[in-house]
Amino acid sequence: MFEKQVVVRVSEGLHARPAARFVQLAKSFSAEIEVVRGEKTANAKSSVKLMLLGVKEDDRIVIRATGDDEEKAVAALAVFAETPDAGLEIHPGSSAPPPAPAPKPAAVPAAAPSVSKDGTVSGVPASEGTAIGPVYAFFREPVAALRQAIEAEEVDSELQRFREAVDAVAASVVGERNDLSTDPADQEILNALIEVIRDGEFVGRIETLIGERMDPVAATLAIAGELAASFLAVGDAYMAARAEDVRGAARLIALKLLGREDVDLAQIPVPSVVVAEEISAFDFAKARLANILGLVCTTGAATSHVAIMARTHGIPAVLGVSADPAVLKAARTAVVDGKSGAVTLDPADDVADAVRARVAAEARERDALSVWRDVEPKTKSGTAIEVAANLGSLKEIDKALAAGAMGVGLFRTEFLFMERRMPPTEDEQAAVYTRLAEAFAPRPVIIRTLDVGGDKPVAGVDFPHEENPFLGWRGIRMCLDRPDFFKTQLSAILRAAAVGNVKIMFPMVVEAAEIRRAKALIEDCAMELRAQGIAHGSPGVGVMLETPAAALMADELAEEVEFFSIGTNDLTQYVMAADRMNPRVAHLNRADHPAVLKAVEIVCRAAEKAGIWVGVCGEAAARPDLIPTFIKLGVRELSMSPPSIPRAKTCVAEAD
Ligand code: PEP
Ligand code: MG
Repeated sequence: MFEKQVVVRVSEGLHARPAARFVQLAKSFSAEIEVVRGEKTANAKSSVKLMLLGVKEDDRIVIRATGDDEEKAVAALAVFAETPDAGLEIHPGSSAPPPAPAPKPAAVPAAAPSVSKDGTVSGVPASEGTAIGPVYAFFREPVAALRQAIEAEEVDSELQRFREAVDAVAASVVGERNDLSTDPADQEILNALIEVIRDGEFVGRIETLIGERMDPVAATLAIAGELAASFLAVGDAYMAARAEDVRGAARLIALKLLGREDVDLAQIPVPSVVVAEEISAFDFAKARLANILGLVCTTGAATSHVAIMARTHGIPAVLGVSADPAVLKAARTAVVDGKSGAVTLDPADDVADAVRARVAAEARERDALSVWRDVEPKTKSGTAIEVAANLGSLKEIDKALAAGAMGVGLFRTEFLFMERRMPPTEDEQAAVYTRLAEAFAPRPVIIRTLDVGGDKPVAGVDFPHEENPFLGWRGIRMCLDRPDFFKTQLSAILRAAAVGNVKIMFPMVVEAAEIRRAKALIEDCAMELRAQGIAHGSPGVGVMLETPAAALMADELAEEVEFFSIGTNDLTQYVMAADRMNPRVAHLNRADHPAVLKAVEIVCRAAEKAGIWVGVCGEAAARPDLIPTFIKLGVRELSMSPPSIPRAKTCVAEAD
């Protein structure tokens, strides 16, 4: 036996990527290897065990090995543990299990269920348009064992059945991961599942229970429950995500054992209206969009991310629907009215006919609007207005160009991070921003720096629990506190600025000092890139006006930037003190409220005084009833989901 005590210097400790690498390294030796921290010991070849040990940076651990190559193993692992950036060499797509994910946004309870006599339920109108189609119920049914115990003589055959189920599930997830059409971000999620399915600790403990005559499904769910609880007890976002991985893997194995299939948005057989409780970014990314005619969710509201994704893809959606999920599931046909927020279940024939006629009329209207694609609209008095696109991924570029986007007014970079299990590297980010800039050149592309926070954590940052995440450590606040993380993104944006008309924009700003600090970091990045001989540009700097403080201090902020972009989604929720995710206060979350428009006016005046331009990139930018007001107040750029662009151009042309 050979052992060595070391002080861990790996940034953020032995979890996330470093843990994955540590386990990979340990597996390359034949010796039995353990890591000891305090009273607890873990097998160094099990990532589940190692992560549960919760080794943090600066912790003292003992690495202990027994076997032929024990000395070499301990030496190599000690060097690893003492290297601060040991986790950084693994690239996405490796078999590593990885860091923090995008936990689901908190589910918002819908108001009391109510279904009217004609089968109509209502919710928050979240994406315009009308749809009718068969219901595809996307509710993941609970999985339960059909029995708890098995007979003694069944043990061998049940163990065999369990192992076959594990192999089959692993093979199918590996197949999905290796499918060339699978997005790299999704591959990472699948890698995390594969890692759990193959983890010796996870599988071994289930086999022990089966050996003790527990039913394989019951054993799988029991061990997953125990491990998930241990991960959750650590209390950080990364571990919470591992708990989800373990539950996800257990669900797949249990379904296989039960001979059941799960619902999957990638498998919607015919064009349908999807009804669900909520849809994660991952599910949405995998979905066969051509088969989603409309969307109905019992959670969420007009500016929640599923709403933004639905609008981007032109899918009519009603969210925060006040209906019992059982009622939605039981319906065979649904009508979605994304404008009024009404959802009609199993409509009468005459209603269905009228709806089909409306769907056809809307399609004709969209076709007619396509003549606006290449128009650069001006108001009647000749003021030119840029109508740009809000995008969250490269997949949306074609849609935006086809809709006639005159650039990108808001690129939400958080989707790049939230859909992944590892933060994208500088090279990966630079490649994404560069492709975006090239696709729209010479038109401007405004890249917003990471806007995440306690309600939507991302890989690579430990988020504390917060009582009020929307008032907490989000957007520029988190980025300024984590310059290492922030500078990776800033450098990537500077690199993209070498090839296109790139601008940079900071979210959630409340005071000028934040902009000054962020600009100083841009300077640092530019110097570092120069020193390395890497080509980069000097993007114009702008700021999102989306907090009351920023609006009230707009005069001061204007001195620091070359443009303002008003984020009416957040500005409305903060001015009105009405949560943008909560359907119960949707009636107060109104961008057309005089209080919000007053804030917009203050911002526009400050911009005019300082001689800088001002745009709107919140969802209100696409509202025909507000566009004339915005223009009158001095707004010169409107940025929105691509399907809204042609109509917005007509509104500009009709404005005085
Ligand atoms: C906004 O707040 O208006 C905005 C555009 O940003 P997001 O919706 O991404 O918070
Ligand atoms: Mg915002």
